[in-house]
Amino acid sequence: MKNTDISVIIPLYNESESLQELHDQICEVMNKNDFSFEIIFVDDGSNDDSWKVIEQISSKNKSVRGIRFQRNYGKSAALNEGFNKANGNVVITMDGDLQDDPDEIPELYKMITEENFDLVSGWKKKRYDPLSKRIPTKLFNFITRLVTGIKLNDFNCGLKAYKYKVVKSIEVYGEMHRYIPVIAKWAGFYKIGEKVVKHRPRKHGKTKFGFERFINGFLDLISITFVTRFGRKPMHLFGMLGSLLFFAGFMIALYLAYAKFFLFEYKMTDRPLFYFGILAMILGTQLFVAGFLGELISRNSQDRNKYLIDKTI
Ligand code: UDP
Ligand code: MG
Repeated sequence: MKNTDISVIIPLYNESESLQELHDQICEVMNKNDFSFEIIFVDDGSNDDSWKVIEQISSKNKSVRGIRFQRNYGKSAALNEGFNKANGNVVITMDGDLQDDPDEIPELYKMITEENFDLVSGWKKKRYDPLSKRIPTKLFNFITRLVTGIKLNDFNCGLKAYKYKVVKSIEVYGEMHRYIPVIAKWAGFYKIGEKVVKHRPRKHGKTKFGFERFINGFLDLISITFVTRFGRKPMHLFGMLGSLLFFAGFMIALYLAYAKFFLFEYKMTDRPLFYFGILAMILGTQLFVAGFLGELISRNSQDRNKYLIDKTI
């Protein structure tokens, strides 16, 4: 068991006006519930006064730590760095803009420690965001549920709680913070819960994500699905598709040859099917080669025999 009950990780980019208030609210909740805790502010290369505010806060409170990136790397990077540095039994992430409510912390903590969840994700059932964001978000969550089979209503809530072991076992990169429950599940942490949380309107500053979030989100979903399912065995996907395609092309060629010699006389190039057949054989071969190359790359990767061990005796 660790000595610290809770680590609160706060990724932030230009949120100077909110940080002091957020800190005060968190401390109040922690002290009321007698938790030992640390707050880790991860300043994602802000160009406002955020870092100065963090320095001030931490000079007065020993439980406050800060990490500052040289430049803006994105929320996923900030979370990942926070995960690496966290010491608490339970790790809680929340946004730095006061939209998440620290009052939810005790209940989240209880769900991890007593109900034994690996991960609990907040659900902003009643959202205080503009409609232009709420509607695409609904679609986004619907598709993610469909593709991943994880029954969460709100994948991208900044407020989440994790077991210590979970954050030390997963890696969040690129823009993958939207899919942390997916990453966790595929790493073998199946007990994923959800809690309705209070959401608040943004008080200061403005949102850091524009409409491109949805397009990037879906691209990321495709890559993460591909990488987890076929990353270690690319041949199973490409090889299968390639073989099927090649086989279809070959059968077409066979049929055309048979028809020409035994059924009726015609010019090969007059038959559209001829081009189909050739195309299918060429594409099939290429897919097959792609699978083969993928296989060579994954055989040579350093992670090819990296597994997460749950227990040993
Ligand atoms: N954030 C970050 N790096 C970035 C963009 C955002 O650390 O490059 C932080 C941001 O400061 C906030 C959290 O991620 O604490 C969520 O961002 P935001 O509130 O803009 O997202 P929204 O609530 O609009 O989804
Ligand atoms: Mg926000």
